[in-house]
Amino acid sequence: MPGIVRASANTRHVVVVGAGIGGLCAALDLAAGGLRVTLVERQPHPGGKMRELTVDGAGIDSGPTVFTMRWVFEDLFADAGLSFAEHVGLTAATTLARHAWLDGSRLDLYADVDRSADAIAAFAGADEALAYRRFAASSEQVFETLDRSFMRVEKPGPMSLTMAAGPGGLPGLWATRPFRTLWSELGRVFRDPRLRQLFARYATYCGSSPFQSPATLMLIAHAERAGVWLVDGGMQRLAEALAAAAAGAGTEIRYRTPATRIRTRGGRVCAVELGDGTCLDADAVIFNGDVAALSAGLMGPDVTDALPDRRGEARSLSAVTWSLSARARGFPLAHHNVFFGGDYAEEFDAIYGRRAICEQPTVYVCAQDRGAGEGPGDDATERLFLLVNAPPRVLSDVEIKRTGERAFGLLARHGLEFTDYRGEAVVTTPGDFARRFPGSDGAIYGWPTHGWSATFRRSGSRSRIGGLYLAGGTVHPGPGVPMVALSGRIAAASLREDLLR
Ligand SMILES: Cc1cc2nc3c(=O)[nH]c(=O)nc-3n(C[C@H](O)[C@H](O)[C@H](O)COP(=O)(O)OP(=O)(O)OC[C@H]3O[C@@H](n4cnc5c(N)ncnc54)[C@H](O)[C@@H]3O)c2cc1C
Repeated sequence: MPGIVRASANTRHVVVVGAGIGGLCAALDLAAGGLRVTLVERQPHPGGKMRELTVDGAGIDSGPTVFTMRWVFEDLFADAGLSFAEHVGLTAATTLARHAWLDGSRLDLYADVDRSADAIAAFAGADEALAYRRFAASSEQVFETLDRSFMRVEKPGPMSLTMAAGPGGLPGLWATRPFRTLWSELGRVFRDPRLRQLFARYATYCGSSPFQSPATLMLIAHAERAGVWLVDGGMQRLAEALAAAAAGAGTEIRYRTPATRIRTRGGRVCAVELGDGTCLDADAVIFNGDVAALSAGLMGPDVTDALPDRRGEARSLSAVTWSLSARARGFPLAHHNVFFGGDYAEEFDAIYGRRAICEQPTVYVCAQDRGAGEGPGDDATERLFLLVNAPPRVLSDVEIKRTGERAFGLLARHGLEFTDYRGEAVVTTPGDFARRFPGSDGAIYGWPTHGWSATFRRSGSRSRIGGLYLAGGTVHPGPGVPMVALSGRIAAASLREDLLR
């Protein structure tokens, strides 16, 4: 084996592969717990899908933009003896998101239920406001039921979940509505088709179609209502703060360092080979890449059977995104904005049926300079990020151009136009995501949560190979910034439990 760097005899050495949010959280937990940790990342910066693109000198959030469940990070920092508030500046967003339909109607949702209910009453009438209050209560109940019993558990299954709930908890579990789709449940809750469409969209937060995912995903609506925060300086500051905290706790972080192979000896991991031909010995490894990379052999032959091979299964949504600096005119943007097209079912039929993008895809627009205080003045250019859901496959240049025309065309029909571009818009495609995240095929949320059992098919933090652990959006509890942070913490806890046993 080329140039092994040995850990001292009495120090357990953990190699974390990938500085996505899951890998960073795992590294911080482990280093703060006294283990020797080396984190290797192929990119030159931390964050993985959380990233900032520079367009004509302006840094634009071009990955996750909606930051929820801040308490997950407060707990992580507190357990490491640190204060999250001292490391990351946050401002609560009073308006969660602005939603717009082609008939010219608009609806803002707020963190405050009463305020949202008032807005819905004015938008769709008093009965719908009442329906919203019932929905807010039931989505909160689903969230509370699953928070401790499911999200924070290493590998829950239907049986363990039922056992953990006990006879008294069964009604609560039943109320998570796993056997009904989110779309059909929302049809029972709301009469106004716009509200059904709005709340169905939460399924896309984990890369799924509301027409196929269980109504349980309504818990995402509660996670958002419990608070959306704007990160001072942009989302990338969160990744940097995590990296700084992990380094401060003793993690050695190496950027521009791909791991090319995970080696085993006697059925246990023993080393990680790096792109420069050197090798790190390892008592344990946490893999934060897409777990399909393992089955595909991208981490070498020793770990191809580390997990059940899911490569034949349909992957989650991908996206086409545009990062641009321009003047926005004709529509009063909030920080988070959703512009709906006409036929919502067609959007998902196209993606999951024909692996295509429909004529009028929903367009999400993040106007990063707005929200916390005053937005940019009328004449100012501002930082903008646009996202359209897409199938997880390489799109041709013609398809990408057509998607851009459709997205910008839809926004124009909503009245929103962009002028005075500073530099070119930077376009990121499913093919780009596939290249950046090996094994993903461009899927940015792992596998979709379609059907009641999909969530139980995600791997837990332990693999079949001794000493190899998993963290990130392709394992339990799934994608999304707070979820992958939990997965990193779960992986660190499993590893510590096994290693120090
Ligand atoms: C456009 C977009 C918008 C999104 N919007 C939101 C949102 O608003 N809110 C939200 O909560 N979530 C959102 N998400 C989802 C969220 O960003 C992800 O679920 C989460 O960041 C994934 O974290 P992760 O831990 O799985 O690591 P990833 O982000 O997948 O990072 C994995 C890291 O591992 C590295 N790596 C992989 N293989 C190797 C190797 N062999 N050697 C070295 N390094 C390796 C990669 O370079 C990468 O840095 C969005 C995602 C995208 C792409």
